Amino acid sequence: MRRHRRAKIVATVGPASNSPEMLKRLFMAGVDTFRLNFSHGTHEDHAKVHAAIRALEAEVGRPIGILQDLQGPKIRVGTIRDGKITVKAGETIRFVRNGADGDKDSIPLPHPEIFAAAAPGHHLLIDDGRVRVEITGLSDDHIDAKVLFGGTISNRKGVNVPNTVLELSPLTAKDRADLAFGLELGVDWVALSFVQKPGDLLEARGLIGDRAGLMSKIEKPAALERIDDIIRLSDAVMVARGDLGVEIPHEEVPGRQKELVRACRLAVKPVIVATQMLDSMVAAPTPTRAEASDVATAVYDGADAVMLSAESASGSYPVEAVAMMDRIIRSTEQHKLYRSIIDASAPGEEQTAPHAVAAAAAELAEVIHSSAIVAFTSSGTTAARIARKRPAVPILAITSDSAVSRRLSLLWGAHSVMSADIHTYEEMVERAINVGQLEGFVRPNESMVVVAGIPFAQAGTTNNLRVIQVS
Ligand code: ATP
Ligand code: MG
Ligand code: MG
Repeated sequence: MRRHRRAKIVATVGPASNSPEMLKRLFMAGVDTFRLNFSHGTHEDHAKVHAAIRALEAEVGRPIGILQDLQGPKIRVGTIRDGKITVKAGETIRFVRNGADGDKDSIPLPHPEIFAAAAPGHHLLIDDGRVRVEITGLSDDHIDAKVLFGGTISNRKGVNVPNTVLELSPLTAKDRADLAFGLELGVDWVALSFVQKPGDLLEARGLIGDRAGLMSKIEKPAALERIDDIIRLSDAVMVARGDLGVEIPHEEVPGRQKELVRACRLAVKPVIVATQMLDSMVAAPTPTRAEASDVATAVYDGADAVMLSAESASGSYPVEAVAMMDRIIRSTEQHKLYRSIIDASAPGEEQTAPHAVAAAAAELAEVIHSSAIVAFTSSGTTAARIARKRPAVPILAITSDSAVSRRLSLLWGAHSVMSADIHTYEEMVERAINVGQLEGFVRPNESMVVVAGIPFAQAGTTNNLRVIQVS
């Protein structure tokens, strides 16, 4: 089973998609990596979803990535009576420090740090900025605020405080417990929310080690200031436009997206563009033209993956949203301008043997019209270096490590396959041809370009390039 596109799809799992049947339908429609958002749901819910995805993986015989997204120090309202309330501009509402099932005069905001740091005149932004209020007065246990932009406030929606500096650790006590739980389950990626500085990653890495890939969610202005170090210390990056677009002005988000995608491609780190990509599909079977264009833009930018949040987690059309994303990606990648746009943002060559070999493989495969570039990769890096070139020829990444094969399901253009280690040249050629034919990448009388590190099965070498002709 093979996907006919290069950019990958990440879909958030939630009440609308957490049954084994729905997970399978979403996978068939195009999901490559599932995101478990630990801001919502119980450990029991997530364990069930995890088990269902692993069972699905065994059933379809394809590696599937699982991304654990840690909540981080996100401020959220508590529960609202009847699940939601609607507030109008000009109205005065009250947040309270303690309580549940609140109303307009008692919206729970169980975060003492806000009560300590907020002041009259500061703004609170609710639900990725959909509702904006200005603080008019506060005490130890309540905050009064005037609604500037009205809308709906529902259970556990996020709250941003852009002009208030909060003393926040990137890993809360809940995150630590969730992380231990996720690693025990065996997630492939751990996403760290609200990363502000390189040190935040060191702390997380100390806990995770090499048990999962570490992904930085870029959603704070502070992170942009130290972005090169943050990318270097991460295994992957998410452009988390929801919170980022609240913390910096809207008009700066598109340019930042382009910068981040380009920097990650340069650094050989997979990058996901996330949030509101097909947002109107939460409630409608088709997206707006602007949303279709947003997905296409991320693909033209060269992102490794695009992501669905509420569309697949709690919307009415999860399968349709994935299918729509799949269609937009394929159509964009086939457009006559795609190549020239992608090539225009290609990073300059790095003067090292592994990079040069990967670049040569991409070029060679294109020049001789090979059917695939086969990368024997033990850590995934050889495949990632080839993907960095964004070649027109598909990448078949062969690894003996199941964790690596799952992680590769996020990488641009990579079709990853599990296969036992090889030890000799003869084995290499034989295996490449077998896997290539079995996975439908090559037919008799076609060629493939094979990249490997010699000695075999050791990470960190990409030093061998070979053309093989299938007889
Ligand atoms: P984050 O800041 O981590 O993105 P979020 O609240 O914006 O958190 P998303 O995953 O981006 O969450 O959006 C999914 C939406 O679906 C949520 O706002 C929430 O209302 C809803 N939802 C309900 N249950 C779940 C669940 N178990 N997992 C994910 N989303 C859920
Ligand atoms: Mg978030
Ligand atoms: Mg979100």
